[in-house]
Amino acid sequence: MRYINTLYKAFILAVLLFGSVVSPRVLASVVENAAVLRSDTLSDTLPPFEQLIRTAEYKDASSFNLPAQQGYWLLFNLHELSPKQDHILYLDGAQIDTVKYYLLDSDFALLSSASHRHGAYLDKIIPHSVLKSGSNQSWAALYLKHSRSSQLAINIVPEQAFYNLVEQRLFTVSALTVLLLVAMAISCAFYFLSRRIKFVYLFAYLLCLLVGMLASKGVFIFIDTTIPVSFAVKASAASFIAALGFACMFFMRSSYGRREIIIARVRLPLILLTVFGLSVIANTLTYDFAIYLLMTSFIAESAILIYLYMQWKETKPSCSSIYFLAWYVIIVQAVVWQLTLMLQLSSHLLNDILIVINTCVFIGTVLIQDRLRILQYNYNLLHDDETALPNKKLLLNCLQSKVKLSQPHSIILFQPAILLDARANFGYEHANEQIKITMAKLAHQLSVMNAEKIEATQLKSHYIARLDDSTYAFVANGKLELSQIEQFVCVTMAVFAEGISHNSNHFVNKVDIGVANYPLHAVNAEQLIQRGLQALSVKPLHGERWHMYDAQNSSLSQYRLEVASSLKEAIEENQLRLFFQPQICLTTGNLHGAEALLRWYHPTLGHVPPDQFIPIAESSGMIFELTEWVVEQALAYQKEVQAIYPDHIISINISAKDLLRKELPVLFLTLLNEYQINAANVMLELTESATLNDGVNIKTALNDYRLIGLKIAIDDFGTGYSSLAYLSKMGFDEIKIDKQFVMNIEYSKNDQTICRATCDIAKSLGSYVVAEGIEDIQSLKRLKSFGCEIGQGYYFSRPLAFTDYLAWLENNLQTHTKADIYQLN
Ligand code: C2E
Ligand code: CA
Ligand code: CA
Repeated sequence: MRYINTLYKAFILAVLLFGSVVSPRVLASVVENAAVLRSDTLSDTLPPFEQLIRTAEYKDASSFNLPAQQGYWLLFNLHELSPKQDHILYLDGAQIDTVKYYLLDSDFALLSSASHRHGAYLDKIIPHSVLKSGSNQSWAALYLKHSRSSQLAINIVPEQAFYNLVEQRLFTVSALTVLLLVAMAISCAFYFLSRRIKFVYLFAYLLCLLVGMLASKGVFIFIDTTIPVSFAVKASAASFIAALGFACMFFMRSSYGRREIIIARVRLPLILLTVFGLSVIANTLTYDFAIYLLMTSFIAESAILIYLYMQWKETKPSCSSIYFLAWYVIIVQAVVWQLTLMLQLSSHLLNDILIVINTCVFIGTVLIQDRLRILQYNYNLLHDDETALPNKKLLLNCLQSKVKLSQPHSIILFQPAILLDARANFGYEHANEQIKITMAKLAHQLSVMNAEKIEATQLKSHYIARLDDSTYAFVANGKLELSQIEQFVCVTMAVFAEGISHNSNHFVNKVDIGVANYPLHAVNAEQLIQRGLQALSVKPLHGERWHMYDAQNSSLSQYRLEVASSLKEAIEENQLRLFFQPQICLTTGNLHGAEALLRWYHPTLGHVPPDQFIPIAESSGMIFELTEWVVEQALAYQKEVQAIYPDHIISINISAKDLLRKELPVLFLTLLNEYQINAANVMLELTESATLNDGVNIKTALNDYRLIGLKIAIDDFGTGYSSLAYLSKMGFDEIKIDKQFVMNIEYSKNDQTICRATCDIAKSLGSYVVAEGIEDIQSLKRLKSFGCEIGQGYYFSRPLAFTDYLAWLENNLQTHTKADIYQLN
């Protein structure tokens, strides 16, 4: 861009230089055999031509400077004119103040003053005189005086050619008038539609152009013949300068609602002042009206161009076409100018061409801007403004057209997990930049696969749409084939797995993906998107990261919603119960304690198992209240039981989410004090997966509980991936073998190995082992032989309501359990 700018400056400079060198060399005549006699020594009465021709003052007039405010005698040799037809001698240019025509014979004797065949109007517009055929005229003499230097064409042509010229003039004047009036009507219409002041400026510009044009063509003379020609010249020059002023005002005002930026950089008065100043300089430099007009128009054009360039920089690329149009105009004007000088065309033609070009540029700019604004508006309606990707509306359009043609397709929705983090850490701009880069990579991959173009323009095609803040989508063509969908999913994951970087930090990114197919899962476009969103909302299980929509799943998520919404009620309306499952010491047969297990009976859903509602409570944030409820109940019951069984140990299940709350240890402390319970008789059960999440944090969180004196167990041991090192670091008091290894212990060598190893590990670490899920005596025997200390399971008892639990303790403990254990011993 910088090169173009310098190039442009150089170009304007060259034009100015060239203009100032060339302009004084006015071509006075295009007629051969003409002579100019300087009038400083001559009056306006007929001079002695015969003598003058022989003296040095007689000069060939083909290139002669005619400064203003002087009188000139011009002498034409008529010997070679055809005697058969009438001729007309005329001066082209409306700037002549005084002109007198004389016909002389071969001895330079006056024959007559030349006659006008036409009225004074035409003679004022195109000064001319008739040279009748058949007379013995040999010379024509002409006296003229003009107020300004100008490019003056003096011609002698056959009569018919002159009439043609007049007709042509009339035609161009009326054509230009019509063009300008149409343009004025357009700007009026724009003003009344938009009420924007810039169209008033445009109207004023065009009006000035019209007035200036009519004045320069001498049309004012029709109004009043006494108006001097010099006045018309001044009027047209003034109109053109005013037109330039209005042109600048128009361009200053025509921005896309970003005027403040432009105006802040270049002030309007400054631009106007520069334009006027430069045009005045140009004016004094050249003295010549046509050149002056060119100069000022070039200066105005350059101001406009600079303005457009700046605007283009601000609003790229929507304004670029206008920018290039303006460039084009400058070049055309330069060419036209050169051509008129070189081909010695009249200044009228030059003037007319410039007026046409300028009018077209202005009206073209208005129309293009209007069109661009409509395009921009439509574009904004259909695109996301942060990423410039198609939005949901455009995606829907695309899907709807596919549904209309009954083309099978799948929608693949995805949510990058890192987006929120990236925004929080690096700010919106950087996060958007990163997401744009990643999307571009993905789009590149999709373009070589069978993905549908959501938007296809000549400039760019888009494959990905942004549905909302964090959800994106693309469309895969064709019937639902799992292998194909897998391929799309893999590509998407691979692109996001590369992650994003900021300074030296690298964040690995993950995506959740949901897929739905038309016509398998949905009957229309809206439903397809909704089904895709449902698939996306399924919680990833066992490491899978993508889901296909399925009807069962959707009723499941309906159920989840219901559960989540009624959990609060469950606590408030007392729908929860705490059950107890006894834990028995396998060596003595004595009671060790009990695990507290939640039960929920919902009035319409019926019995809801904790396996189902606990994960929902965890994800919906209800788990905190639930745990507090459990802890309060469990400790209250413990107080009652310990009155009868002082060594009774109560085991309470704690969710991983609870560990992060500082309030929980405080609650324990208060309740332990209140109920006078020994902290060592309370065991907190943490699942293995929960403890593994983040070793450091969990360990510090557990310290709070340890300080109180509470005991900690690792639950479901064997289902996660705890290492020996980890176990010893965390120092659990109890290890609970998960029931899945216990229930089949009789039939599975594998489970036996696991149970035996767990017992050995526990021993070496100084913890004791609890086996849950003991359903029969054989399992119990085997676990005992491995050295397992405590048992829990249906073999002893199912979880029981508190009163039932107390009754069970009363009845069974002394008799049945002890008898069994003794039997084993
Ligand atoms: P868990 O901690 O592993 O609890 C043991 C589960 O095994 C209980 O299921 C219990 O009824 C069952 N069980 C015990 N002995 C046997 C047996 O011999 N055979 C069979 N088949 N099952 C047996 P429940 O009560 O359905 O609890 C399921 C899970 O819900 C628990 O697993 C625990 O993770 C969670 N949970 C229950 N209550 C609470 C609670 O108060 N808080 C928290 N955070 N989680 C709880
Ligand atoms: Ca448990
Ligand atoms: Ca368990």
